[in-house]
Amino acid sequence: MIVILKPKPPAAAVAELSEMLEKQGVRVDPVYGTDLTILGLVGDTSRIDPSRVEANRIVERVMSVAEPFKIANKLFHPEPTVVEVAGRSIGANKIVVVAGPCSVETEEQIISVAAEVKEAGASFLRGGAFKPRTSPYAFQGLKYDGLRLLGLARQATGLPIVSEIMSPHDIELFAGSVDIIQVGARNMQNFDLLKELGKISKPVLLKRGLAATVEEWLMSAEYLLAGGNRQIVLCERGIRTFETYTRNTLDLSAVLAVKKLSHLPVLVDPSHAAGKWWMVADLAKAAVAVGADGLMIEVHNDPARALCDGQQSIKPDGFRALMGELRPIAQAVGREL
Ligand code: PEP
Ligand code: MN
Repeated sequence: MIVILKPKPPAAAVAELSEMLEKQGVRVDPVYGTDLTILGLVGDTSRIDPSRVEANRIVERVMSVAEPFKIANKLFHPEPTVVEVAGRSIGANKIVVVAGPCSVETEEQIISVAAEVKEAGASFLRGGAFKPRTSPYAFQGLKYDGLRLLGLARQATGLPIVSEIMSPHDIELFAGSVDIIQVGARNMQNFDLLKELGKISKPVLLKRGLAATVEEWLMSAEYLLAGGNRQIVLCERGIRTFETYTRNTLDLSAVLAVKKLSHLPVLVDPSHAAGKWWMVADLAKAAVAVGADGLMIEVHNDPARALCDGQQSIKPDGFRALMGELRPIAQAVGREL
């Protein structure tokens, strides 16, 4: 971090600021130019809040040199993180596919979709039990009964479960009933939830917020990591832009950005990005081509009657065909599926 001071700062004020900064664990290297004085901060600056430094009246501007996330940073952890869960590795050579309906609806529905996606080669079953809906009048999920039905689907098929949590009160129950806890886009910056999930060792799938920058997303991952939970998987699911043709805009460049900045594995969810079932397969292929570690895809047995997100759900046949088409693409980029 570099602190640029206003011209001719009083020496006492510079000494006072330097002392304040050094108390926060860094060394202050001043450079006195003819016009400007610059303080170079050497060491771990992750605990220094640049806006607080800028509040000092002798400070003109603060420039950050390093990224504000530390444990998530590839600089300090060059090897990729591989999250091991239920005998599957996320972030290793094999691309993982999480598939299933937006919401758990009935026992028959979740078990039949689970069996079909497993047969087609999915590694995880997804299914929402608690649904963050824009309208309070829309289907809110089967809640605790949904978790129970997911458990039955796991028993029937052996597929590990991914499901979204909304409240910190449910952490214990989720930790005991799902294999990966999903934090949805709308809760990416629910810091109380992140802090609590940081305290457990259950894997967390952290979706990118609707309007979050890559840095904000990685800072949310940092909350989980700073609490001690190192089992973190990211998921790009489209961001809000001026475009309205699609539900969101799939930001595939974010996969490359995350791979450059961080060691954490990253999945892509083309379903919530596009919001249109007919775009899902091609976007999934593009995601694999660009280097995603896996996919999350909404699959429903009867999209026209789905209680949530039928418009973006593909059917089990389409999913099976897609898995076949993804294999050569994975191979072409040195991965397997
Ligand atoms: C979901 O996965 O069902 C979901 C609600 O996703 P997102 O948080 O990305 O909107
Ligand atoms: Mn959905």
